[in-house]
Amino acid sequence: MPDLSRPDAGDPDVAGHDGPGGDPDVAGRDGPGGDSGLAGRHDSGGGSDADGGLFGAGLRVLILGGTSEGRALAAACAGVAGLHVTSSLAGRTSAPLLPAGELRVGGFGGVDGLTSYLRSERIGAVVDATHPFAATMSAHATVAAARAGVPLLVLRRPGFVARPGDDWHRVPSLAAAAELVPALGQRVFLTTGRQSIAAFAGVGGRWFLSRSVEPPRPPVPPRLEVVLDRGPFTVEGERALLDRYRIDVLVTKDSGGPAPKLDAARERGIPVVMIDRPPPPGHGPPLPSGPTSTNPVVATETVATIPAALAWLTARVAN
Ligand code: NAP
Repeated sequence: MPDLSRPDAGDPDVAGHDGPGGDPDVAGRDGPGGDSGLAGRHDSGGGSDADGGLFGAGLRVLILGGTSEGRALAAACAGVAGLHVTSSLAGRTSAPLLPAGELRVGGFGGVDGLTSYLRSERIGAVVDATHPFAATMSAHATVAAARAGVPLLVLRRPGFVARPGDDWHRVPSLAAAAELVPALGQRVFLTTGRQSIAAFAGVGGRWFLSRSVEPPRPPVPPRLEVVLDRGPFTVEGERALLDRYRIDVLVTKDSGGPAPKLDAARERGIPVVMIDRPPPPGHGPPLPSGPTSTNPVVATETVATIPAALAWLTARVAN
């Protein structure tokens, strides 16, 4: 039986997004969700704001979060006059790292629900600061913002860049990663988040280590050990983890951000299965309720840093 509870090591990966990386639940980010005790919470105050009055002066901003970037932007906005920010989390994890300011938790109910929310809350700008792999939320945001006539900014960290000594194998999906893994090693470190472990359940003859903030749910590989942890991590810690578990292949999403696990893998000569990001809205196969010919994508801006996102917002307050 897999050990799904052993809390002895180190790194969620997702956690850094809450950490750098990987997946909603993993690290501090808050994962998507549905199981959080916070689910359904809405602390936005029903449309009034601190500056007085229902939908008073200033710019009402919705930050779609679940990432360290979302939290950093909410914190940066907190001191800016005229910006009234509500952060939104999916509600996947039971104890997410919370952003500063007002918070709502739980899905909106698809594109229609988000469009209604933007209208009813008089949102004047949306920042999509979700994880690069949260493709459905990003697609919904693109369509809903267009329908509601609300400007949308995408705040997204750049992807990882290979360095000399790296042995990366890029694949387009979790399924492709599961297919490739047996050819690369015997002892596999999964840093893709608890929701992705099921994709490896059918991989026979290999031993797996997964790291997440909360344990994965079945199905999981028959030989699996779980490390419950949340970033940030260090190169020293990652090196020790690779050594302790005699890892010979690492699997990660191309989440971007700091990734000491990649430094440690390079040092140890361990191959990395790097799962490519999903295409941005409008550039890949249409999602069920994503951009289509009748759900047009409007031009959106993308920035990679908190100062750039803050500048985009403050320019709208000024106008
Ligand atoms: P997803 O597949 O793109 O979204 C699925 C559904 O979850 C959305 O349609 C939406 O429900 C709801 N949702 C997602 N993000 C939301 C948010 N910020 N606020 C309110 N509702 C949200 O999302 P996911 O990949 O499961 O990720 C969920 C959350 O975890 C995101 O906030 C993301 O930033 C974070 N996260 C994801 C990863 C990852 O690897 N995917 C890693 C770290 C953190 P409705 O349709 O009902 O509105």
